[in-house]
Amino acid sequence: MKVHIHWFRRDLRLHDHRALAKATNDGEHLVLPLFIFDSHILDALENKADQRVHFIHHTLRHMRDQLQSLGSSMLVRYGKPIDVWKALLDEYDIASVSVVRDYEPYALERDKSVYDLLHAKNISFTGCKDQVIFEKSEITKNDGDSYSVFTPYSKSWKAALTKADYAEAKVNNKRFFPSKPLPIPTLEDMGFKETDTDLFPSKDVSDDILKHYHDKRDIPSVRGTSRMSVHLRFGTVSIRELVRRAMSTNETFLNELIWRDFYQMTLYHHPQSPQKALKPKYDNIEWEINESHFAAWCAGRTGYPLVDAGMRELNTTGYMHNRIRMLTASFLTKHLLIDWRWGERYFAEKLLDFDLAANVGGWQWAAGCGNDAAPYFRIFNPYTQQEKFDPSNTYVKRFVIEFGTDKYPKPIVEHKWARERALERYKKGLKD
Ligand SMILES: Cc1cc2nc3c(=O)[nH]c(=O)nc-3n(C[C@H](O)[C@H](O)[C@H](O)COP(=O)(O)OP(=O)(O)OC[C@H]3O[C@@H](n4cnc5c(N)ncnc54)[C@H](O)[C@@H]3O)c2cc1C
Repeated sequence: MKVHIHWFRRDLRLHDHRALAKATNDGEHLVLPLFIFDSHILDALENKADQRVHFIHHTLRHMRDQLQSLGSSMLVRYGKPIDVWKALLDEYDIASVSVVRDYEPYALERDKSVYDLLHAKNISFTGCKDQVIFEKSEITKNDGDSYSVFTPYSKSWKAALTKADYAEAKVNNKRFFPSKPLPIPTLEDMGFKETDTDLFPSKDVSDDILKHYHDKRDIPSVRGTSRMSVHLRFGTVSIRELVRRAMSTNETFLNELIWRDFYQMTLYHHPQSPQKALKPKYDNIEWEINESHFAAWCAGRTGYPLVDAGMRELNTTGYMHNRIRMLTASFLTKHLLIDWRWGERYFAEKLLDFDLAANVGGWQWAAGCGNDAAPYFRIFNPYTQQEKFDPSNTYVKRFVIEFGTDKYPKPIVEHKWARERALERYKKGLKD
């Protein structure tokens, strides 16, 4: 029997899903879901207890169970995508294939090679917009160029938004391909092991949190933000569902979702941005090659309590509050004058919600070289930030247990001196 395969990547859910809705409602053939654990990505991960691999595995098991209750199952393979596809061509009579579009440089290259393979066999390979509200050149300036400043981008985004852009995409559960239960490779089969599932944030966020989002989102000691980043990264929650909720509860929260689209499209239009500053002059800045300062920053032992609390939160939970991401990134690139690319790679290794577009966007913002970035002379004062956002040291004490004792390290650089050094070094690099 001919089959339509939907290849899941960062869209791991069976509801409110545009590509699945289209395939199950309008498609000629029954739909068989597929996921490939990409050995190219997994082999590059040094930590064999990587939370993200476990999160995906955990999610797939749940999806497979849901599909089995519908009389279908999920094909899960491990290997290089192109090799897996070659094998599938021998095993199944594939009529057509769908995917949700992914805008990262590696994903675009991977999809092109699979498209070429399938196209040569007359099998259609269709991409669908699902994980963002607007993509590619849907939101551009009057001259057709992509936006580099957020506020006008967000204004155009809001002006362009219609109900159809955030309507639920209903999946027809009766149109999955009948299958006996199919096995999923174990984490051990792929060289990984389980992690602490308690660190996976819940898929639910209360209306109360969203309603008070604008007041509480900058206080790292309280649960004032949605914790939806992991779910948006892997598609376990639909962006349209969050936009629907944001529209009826909180404009500030909606703006953050728009920042996400903005950075996704910045990466799409500037695929070199993980390596190169969006403002090219910033690549002339002479960075410090100081391994011991970098190690102190990574370990949360800089002697600046709020910076250290953030890095320890990251190291122990795989998450860091946004306000503290801004502070730790500013501290690395300004106080320590270390290249933003080092910090970006460290976050990429540790964040459960790691997303190339948002991470590169955030780091280039902090270093001053990105789209709509903080100007280079805006240097966060870690002490003032602590007084403002963690005045009773609740967050600091949660992660820096030795805070206030003589075991806590002395500052590795002096604030005023580091600030002056950064201003001078940036000025020198940025002059023509
Ligand atoms: C240096 C730096 C690195 C970052 N790296 C990442 C990353 O790898 N992955 C990631 O998802 N976010 C990243 N962010 C953005 C932001 O810190 C996180 O999205 C947020 O802290 C996640 O918590 P939340 O889900 O409770 O967010 P909320 O405050 O509840 O926001 C809701 C959602 O909006 C999106 N969002 C919010 N702020 C931003 C932003 N500034 N840029 C893009 N999207 C945003 C996220 O998807 C988030 O889940 C980074 C920010 C900085 C400054």
